[in-house]
Amino acid sequence: MAAHQDKKLAEERKHQNVQNGTKASQGQWGRAWEVDWFSLASILFLLMFAPLIVYYFIMSCAQYQCSLTEPLLDLLTGNKHLSDIWNRTPMLTFRAAGIYALWVTFQVVLYMAIPDFCHKFLPGYVGGVQEGAVTPAGVVNKYEINGLQAWIITHVLWFANAYCLHFFSPTIIFDNWIPLLWCANLLGYAVSTFAMIKGYFFPTNAKDCKFTGNFFYDYMMGIEFNPRIGKWFDFKLFFNGRPGIVAWTLINLSFAAKQQELYGEVTNSMILVNVLQGIYVLDFFWNEAWYLKTIDICHDHFGWYLGWGDCVWLPYLYTLQGLYLVYHPVQLHSAHAVGVLLLGLLGYYIFRATNHQKDLFRRTNGNCRIWGKRPEHIECSYTSVDGTRYHSKLLTAGFWGWARHFNYTGDLMGSLAYCLACGFGHLLPYFYIVYMSILLTHRCLRDEHRCSSKYGKDWQRYTAAVPYRLLPGIF
Ligand code: NDP
Repeated sequence: MAAHQDKKLAEERKHQNVQNGTKASQGQWGRAWEVDWFSLASILFLLMFAPLIVYYFIMSCAQYQCSLTEPLLDLLTGNKHLSDIWNRTPMLTFRAAGIYALWVTFQVVLYMAIPDFCHKFLPGYVGGVQEGAVTPAGVVNKYEINGLQAWIITHVLWFANAYCLHFFSPTIIFDNWIPLLWCANLLGYAVSTFAMIKGYFFPTNAKDCKFTGNFFYDYMMGIEFNPRIGKWFDFKLFFNGRPGIVAWTLINLSFAAKQQELYGEVTNSMILVNVLQGIYVLDFFWNEAWYLKTIDICHDHFGWYLGWGDCVWLPYLYTLQGLYLVYHPVQLHSAHAVGVLLLGLLGYYIFRATNHQKDLFRRTNGNCRIWGKRPEHIECSYTSVDGTRYHSKLLTAGFWGWARHFNYTGDLMGSLAYCLACGFGHLLPYFYIVYMSILLTHRCLRDEHRCSSKYGKDWQRYTAAVPYRLLPGIF
């Protein structure tokens, strides 16, 4: 009965939104309700080419020692045909399917079956049941925050196996890298398609669904805001954090193990990549409760962009530096290594401190101190779709007084450090900084567009007080 009512509501909203996009966007913040040609063209491009881009990078390492230009040259000069490259590509294997199924099942069990115990003994850590932000429909979801625990258990088992149990080789991920890619794609497409069908027929909260009327846009950007199975299995929290981000550090460890196996040593560049990215991943899980207030959870709907992106794009392209170092074991001069370490740590500090300032400010409703002073801010208000008026504050002190997204600037500095750790021999490891610059600049513009429609004139007062986005005085 409830499911039937939800479906009816979703249908009503679908017609209302498609027919009266302007009205809907006035009453509610969120993505654009009308799909312009540029957005549609970008979405079609990504749907068609993103899987090929991932394949191209991974294949160029496996077959061309990570050269990005050689495969193209080979094809353009007729030296090789597409079929030659494809025939040398490992296919899906039962072994990889088994490993992947076991991996995802294990992460589901850790997520669903073991309530968080870390918050009971780790001072300062916020875990257990936590509330998310108010959704556009005025709902406040509850989440079981147990990502840190899942990460710790997974890594303890990984090291126990590597040093004591020896059930499998720590190079297992590298050794099955391409067959695992096919498994990740299968899951990514399955989950995005399921999310689309679910949005139409049995949404978790029909008022938080969004139908633009364009099939491709809806598939890519998602219909449901917070799709769930049962009370606790939240698609966004699960797929964003695990299996992708828990896997990130394991993948890097597997690449380090492969270096050890091939060359008898692990290079300082590989250690730097493992350490800097390890800090970033651990930070993510330590602050998982904070993550509930970020754009992914607060604003993005769940579609192919998050579903496939979390399963394939993130674990395969965020780990390119480690993969590259297996093929090119770069040993950095001490000065270079120290420079990379300092840049990475400074970037991390800015990223964390900026995020922390906003979090502290919002949690205490401005009753806190930032850089020793009561923080300056701008009072603002907005209306949810049910007409309720809410009040909020925009911080203009600390790093938030320097630029409107200085957290992205810190993130970009850290990203550059991972790339610089790989030396200057090839373009491939630099893909990450190029991608992150595009992602975070686009995200910044997208967020500002959304905030502008959410806060209206209050947002204009804020941008007048803090005129730059990422780099004070420049952009
Ligand atoms: P933010 O944490 O910056 O959140 C933006 C939201 O914060 C806005 O929508 C607005 O939400 C609120 N806000 C904006 N300005 C202010 C202000 N001055 N004072 C108080 N609140 C404000 O962005 P993200 O969620 O995108 O990013 C979080 C972190 O995650 C960043 O550090 C980013 O670098 C990182 N990240 C990393 C990615 C990766 O792939 N490695 C991908 C994406 C993000 P409201 O509606 O509540 O006002």
